[in-house]
Amino acid sequence: MTSAIMKLEKIIQNSSNIVFFGGAGVSTESGIPDFRSAKGLYHEKYKYRPEMILSRTFFDNNTEEFYRFYREKMLYPNAKPNDAHIALAELEGQGKLKAIITQNVDGLHTLAGSKNVLELHGSALRNICLICEEQYTLDKILETEGIPHCMCGGIIKPDVVLYEEMLNASVTANAAKVIYDADVLIVGGTSLNVYPAAGLIEHYCGKALVMINKTKTSYDRNADLIIRDNIGETLRKAVENI
Ligand code: ZN
Repeated sequence: MTSAIMKLEKIIQNSSNIVFFGGAGVSTESGIPDFRSAKGLYHEKYKYRPEMILSRTFFDNNTEEFYRFYREKMLYPNAKPNDAHIALAELEGQGKLKAIITQNVDGLHTLAGSKNVLELHGSALRNICLICEEQYTLDKILETEGIPHCMCGGIIKPDVVLYEEMLNASVTANAAKVIYDADVLIVGGTSLNVYPAAGLIEHYCGKALVMINKTKTSYDRNADLIIRDNIGETLRKAVENI
């Protein structure tokens, strides 16, 4: 075990009010590509840029093309929680971790057994009819082709926050509150460049800020501990003796 991981283990041992804030890097070890990284979706061949396809205007005006991209590039129904998701679920089960705030829409924290998961960008596991608001699971999307329709005839939209859409106000407020109340904040798999991540982190005023990310983040100067390594392995080793 490296000294950095030993430090993290000690920080976790001494706290019962940990909050985890995670981004795309948490899910890459489950085989879900990082949406914004150099090897991510932006460099794939598509007629439009992903940011454009994943906007509300595009969804409303080119729903079929949206779903073609969404089904091919955004859905990973066979992805399984990795060591990071599992370690965090264990810490919550032990009463040490109070909340997970995630920018990911893959639902893997919930699949790993975590209960208090604040999904800033929504979840691909939930889908809603735009007319009658009937809710559908991911299976409904997977078992249809083209544009999925509700029994009422309305178009079904994934419950994910698209570009141009507002974040859910209560999820965001709750995230700010748990960060403010946290004793330890572990930030992992995000460079904190995506709105509103950096702004939310500003609410933190606890004892130890831990950054686990392969590359530099805009918040490293504030960190008490920086670990540049795989998040799954790091968290697994840090919690295995707790
Ligand atoms: Zn409906």
